[in-house]
Amino acid sequence: MAETKFVYHFAEGDAGMRNLLGGKGANLAEMTNIGIPVPDGFIVTTEACTDYYKNKTKISDKIKAQIQKALAELEGKTKKKLGCAKNPLLVSIRSGSRASMPGMMDTVLNLGLNDQTTAGLAKLTGNPRFANDCYRRFIMMFANVVVELEKHKFEHIFGEIKEKKGIENDSDLTAADLAEVIKEFKAFYKKGTGEDFPQDPQVQLMKSIAAVFRSWNNPRAITYRRLNDIPGDWGTAVNVQMMVFGNMGDTSGTGVCFTRDPSIGTNKLYGEYLMNAQGEDVVAGVRTPLKIDALEKQNPKVFKQFVDIYKKLEKHYKDMQDIEFTIEDGKLFILQTRVGKRTAAAALKIAVDLFAEKMISQEEALLKIDPKQLDALLHPQFVPAELAKAKAIAEGLPASPGAACGQAVFTAERAVEFKNAGKKTILVRLETCPDDIEGMNVTEGILTARGGMTSHAAVVARGMGTCCVAGCGALRISEEGRYFEVAGKRYNEGDFISLDGASGKVYGEVIKTQAAKLTGDFKTIMDWADKYRKLGIRTNAETEADLKKAIEFGAEGVGLARTEHMFFGTGRIEPMREMIVSNTKEEREKALAKLLPIQRDDFYAIFKAMKGLPVTIRFLDPPLHEFVPTSQQDIAILAQEMGMAVEHLKATIASLHEFNPMLGHRGLRLAITYPEIAVMQTRAVIEAAIQVQKDLKIDIVPEIMIPLVAEVKEYNYIKKYVVETADEIIAKSGVKLKYMVGTMIEIPRACITADEIAKQAEFFSFGTNDLTQMTFGFSRDDAGKFLPDYYSKKIFDSDPFVRMDLDGVGFLVKMAVDKGKSARKDLKVGICGEHGGDPSTIEFCHKVGLTYVSCSPFRVPIARLAAAQAAIREKKGGCASENR
Ligand code: ADP
Ligand code: MG
Ligand code: MG
Repeated sequence: MAETKFVYHFAEGDAGMRNLLGGKGANLAEMTNIGIPVPDGFIVTTEACTDYYKNKTKISDKIKAQIQKALAELEGKTKKKLGCAKNPLLVSIRSGSRASMPGMMDTVLNLGLNDQTTAGLAKLTGNPRFANDCYRRFIMMFANVVVELEKHKFEHIFGEIKEKKGIENDSDLTAADLAEVIKEFKAFYKKGTGEDFPQDPQVQLMKSIAAVFRSWNNPRAITYRRLNDIPGDWGTAVNVQMMVFGNMGDTSGTGVCFTRDPSIGTNKLYGEYLMNAQGEDVVAGVRTPLKIDALEKQNPKVFKQFVDIYKKLEKHYKDMQDIEFTIEDGKLFILQTRVGKRTAAAALKIAVDLFAEKMISQEEALLKIDPKQLDALLHPQFVPAELAKAKAIAEGLPASPGAACGQAVFTAERAVEFKNAGKKTILVRLETCPDDIEGMNVTEGILTARGGMTSHAAVVARGMGTCCVAGCGALRISEEGRYFEVAGKRYNEGDFISLDGASGKVYGEVIKTQAAKLTGDFKTIMDWADKYRKLGIRTNAETEADLKKAIEFGAEGVGLARTEHMFFGTGRIEPMREMIVSNTKEEREKALAKLLPIQRDDFYAIFKAMKGLPVTIRFLDPPLHEFVPTSQQDIAILAQEMGMAVEHLKATIASLHEFNPMLGHRGLRLAITYPEIAVMQTRAVIEAAIQVQKDLKIDIVPEIMIPLVAEVKEYNYIKKYVVETADEIIAKSGVKLKYMVGTMIEIPRACITADEIAKQAEFFSFGTNDLTQMTFGFSRDDAGKFLPDYYSKKIFDSDPFVRMDLDGVGFLVKMAVDKGKSARKDLKVGICGEHGGDPSTIEFCHKVGLTYVSCSPFRVPIARLAAAQAAIREKKGGCASENR
């Protein structure tokens, strides 16, 4: 068997080899082969990284030998030699995984320098200042990246020397000044590691390559992968590339450019550069960089060459590119190109423009947009004129986009209480924890004093699509005292504040927000998506506001109207409570009689809003403990209302306590015990549908959905009540009305017996929140406490409640679809769990042949796009969109 090839010269690769060579390497190879000036080099593959981990974090001798061979060949081509004092080869060591991954290793530049080669380089170039500048950079990068000494300590030493010399600009340091820096850096290196700075370039090289492999598993990288759905077993490649020098003097420089404006998408070169600089100087802000347009005056020849190259790259890759370049003594080199990251608005504009420019097809345009990114465009924004007038009181990290305005509250409980009283809040916390979830869920925005972009608050808020400003250190918060102070002013509970999740700014006043609109490029893309998608898109909603939003965003029906959600709020929760604590059928029917007209009106409103589009109504599935009164006062009121002794009521409430409510007396189990609940709900649905038909001439086929079925006999027991009640009402009314009865599939046993159930049920809808909970045996309410350990210990890459577990839960879903359709050919199958709005889950739903996905209103556009992408990818032969 031929030996595995672990090392590729740039000339041996191409852009299609991304999985093996990493994104950066594959593109360096591609550019080399289409004649772009790229400094030569080679790539150590992602498979070598996997091998390194298999081999107990050692680079095997085989791989080392291949690296040596490639190095020797590179030395031959460049006519330089690593470690040779007369004519040293210097290289950069660059990480590069399949998907671009900030959070991984930093680059090491100028590798190969030691005391001798630095002297040699000085002599060769006649420029000792330059040689010393390279060496001091190398020591710092190697120390930081490979042996993990803190970078800022080196920067501190550097700063001190500059200050001592009275120099402001790095580029004004002389060769002698830099020699002093080198001396101090080496001393600090020795102090920090107990060893001399390694002088052997071979040691430098192997240690640096190993450091790149190691960085694949640093905590930042692991978190980044989880947030971005990147599998942990991909590994990273390492690029070893000959150095070119932007720090050789005033005819040299380095820069970065986007071929279009990444914030608004305009077709105009956008970027910055710096003369006499190297590597990250441009982004690190050591001097103020120049706008790329200035290069045209400074060096028209190089500028023209750059324009030709960027146009060629854009055409070649058919997308906006993010390009890194270096000019060495008037000669242009390209060091990287990749598909440029962009805001959601820019993504839409660029996709539409590239189609108009005939560079890509509509299908390709649709594949270019990350559906998840659209989220940012779907949340309310501040009215621009109002925002312009407002003055920020503090600024934190822009952790989750959107604009929010509400009354400050300092605990999750208060947020819930405010919400129940119909008030909008901003939840202000030192930092959030899983216990705060409920409050985070009901609040308009989250503001924390501590924590970064990957703190609990930030991650959860992004997941929920809630606006969040995190790590706002200027706030002095007293959670107990229910206030915070900033800039000498105190804000108490109930005071109005506003958050801008896009800028991180906090305002101590009301700023009006406006709803997002689906217009312009956004609308164009959505129209295209509808042309290509096969999946239907419905929404999970029951309130008028949500339904309206969902229709505006393109929902084609309601996949889940949660009837228990309709009982929060005054005037509604009371009869609901009565119903729950009733001891006799009479009491219960009395309470249900009060609920009937409320439910009927609600359903009427839903049918009216949906104008004949299908509506699935799920029968009662309340977690009882959320409804029973807890305060003495509420208990007393309820007891009086029901003519019950307080003590008796308390005993009833106590008897309702469950050890594990998630697996308790909920869903259809409740209706098995109390069928009169199902009867009342059927009555409400059918009467509302008849009334809508009479009043508004809207024909509707209500879909009644029985939750939490495990066994077909359970389902049949309830269905009998539903059908008898419905048929009787319809017969009496003299109106012709069709309705459907189906079930939610959310218990593994229901998946296994799906064929039996489908004989009786006219439709399925997968409740994947419960199905995930019950398949894993993880309580949804408690998983947040231990799942983080699963990520840090690399057991899970992602949250199974967010991204469907395809191997387990997905297997059950597919099995249930197949079995269900075998028993009933025209079975309608949807999904209404949280996963229904997750793009990767939507792709799966498309593949297993679901009829529709249903998600929250704000996710409808995301789902439309994801469904179109799934259909397009399937047509193209299933190639994933890793090119982002
Ligand atoms: P990142 O992935 O963080 O962008 P890179 O590997 O692209 O890191 O390296 C960062 C910068 O280092 C590049 O933009 C370039 O300016 C500089 N650099 C990398 N390799 C070389 C090289 N061979 N010659 C000159 N500069 C280089
Ligand atoms: Mg780069
Ligand atoms: Mg459920």
